[in-house]
Amino acid sequence: MSTSESDLLASVPDGLYIGGRWRPATGHTTFGVTDPATGEVVKEIADATVEDGVAALDAACDAYESWSRTPARTRAEILRRAFDLVRARKDDLALLMTIEMGKPLAESLGEVAYGGEFLRWFSEEAAHVQGRYGANPEGTGRMIVTQHPVGPCYLITPWNFPLAMATRKIAPALAAGCTMVVKPASQTPLTTLLLTRLLEDAGVPAGVVNVITTTASGPVSEAVIGDPRLRKLSFTGSTDVGRRLLAQAATGVLRTSMELGGNAPFVVFDDADLDKAVDGAIAAKFRNIGEACTAANRFIVQASVADEFARRVTERVTAFRTGRGTEEGVTIGPLIDARAVEKADELVRDAVDRGASIRVGGEKLDRAGTFYAATVLTDVAPGSRILRDEIFGPVVAIVRFTDEDDAVRIANDTEFGLVSYVYTRDLARGQRMIERLETGMMGLNVGVVSNPAAPFGGWKLSGLGREGGAEGIHEYLQTKYTLTPDPFS
Ligand code: NAD
Repeated sequence: MSTSESDLLASVPDGLYIGGRWRPATGHTTFGVTDPATGEVVKEIADATVEDGVAALDAACDAYESWSRTPARTRAEILRRAFDLVRARKDDLALLMTIEMGKPLAESLGEVAYGGEFLRWFSEEAAHVQGRYGANPEGTGRMIVTQHPVGPCYLITPWNFPLAMATRKIAPALAAGCTMVVKPASQTPLTTLLLTRLLEDAGVPAGVVNVITTTASGPVSEAVIGDPRLRKLSFTGSTDVGRRLLAQAATGVLRTSMELGGNAPFVVFDDADLDKAVDGAIAAKFRNIGEACTAANRFIVQASVADEFARRVTERVTAFRTGRGTEEGVTIGPLIDARAVEKADELVRDAVDRGASIRVGGEKLDRAGTFYAATVLTDVAPGSRILRDEIFGPVVAIVRFTDEDDAVRIANDTEFGLVSYVYTRDLARGQRMIERLETGMMGLNVGVVSNPAAPFGGWKLSGLGREGGAEGIHEYLQTKYTLTPDPFS
């Protein structure tokens, strides 16, 4: 590890942030954060207990009244300062993310730009929350519709986008006037801890944002979610955990936002611009080492262009450089842990056993860290697990289709519905695909759809609610309708 890396790591807080104070966990328990490229522990941080989780919620509840009454403009200005601070510290945030998560530095910088934008977007949205006033149809009264913050929130984030998943929840919650407890994934808490310091510097008052890091996600979360003072749960992560949390949230009838798993189809028609389709495929698959909920999981390619598409994708993948994300020119970093490598390998083995061919890759890498070779599989047979499960790794799985109906049938043959990608030059066909594919988002001749100004979210088992866009702040607001008598009668 370089000196600049150790200096940066030493400067990141290692405690829990509760009620505006950094403090150790009860009993001073800690856990190690690992660099997946080397397997080394890079920093020890506080390991929160159930008691700490409840203390964080206490702080969020104490701060709620004051923050919810803080003028929207003041909240907006704090968010805008936070955006400026994130921009100013972009190199540190990016390096930290690469160290704890593994993605190449250039991609980490991309995430800082993307994640920071949520702070700016919601600083702009904060002052634009509006209600309505009007006569009821009978003319006997006046109807007033107002928006109010939903209350103290619990925000749980995953490890794959350590900054963006945090700002995508924290920024709209702050903008709406909510206070919160934030729990980052235990694999990648450091980016959130540095972000928290920046929020503190931007002027977020004590108790408004509280952050707990823990290896006991289950019990700590159950206590927070089961507390009647909590009003909202926002979770990004796997569908399995999301389902369990939804069941817990049912007791308190909590407002919930669930950004869950995906199984994105990437459909290439024979009339597509193949160069652009290949560029899009590389972005949709290999961004974030394939560890994205929006990653293309199934490449569904019209039979007449399938061989050429596979040849061009294989050529590009063969030129990738795998290594620690801090090294110059690296395009593929490590997977998050050994379990992720096992899962990718199992899915590839299963596909090969059922008849798929490996064009490149198809193996774990024999080196320190948790690396899996960038892989291209062709002729993946129906029924292969790789077509059903989210791979979350750098593996392209190609299947063929005959006509449009066949493509739609294969693409929709999944319980997930986060995002789809379609490449075609035929405008009418593109429009038909918008109407026929069962996903909350779609890239039409585009390989990456994420944008802070857009409503991000899924259909089917991919989740509930939307993050970002004009919709994002409404996840943290509740509506009140008031009736008053006709003032003239
Ligand atoms: P995960 O579900 O294992 O973990 C997500 C978060 O939940 C982490 O903070 C984890 O500590 C916490 N957690 C785990 N078990 C818990 C429990 N029993 N109770 C409470 N909290 C618990 O998911 P992951 O492996 O971190 O992330 C990968 C998954 O996230 C993939 O399925 C991916 O598709 C999904 N994801 C979805 C989106 C989206 O916007 N739809 C974005 C990124 C990732």
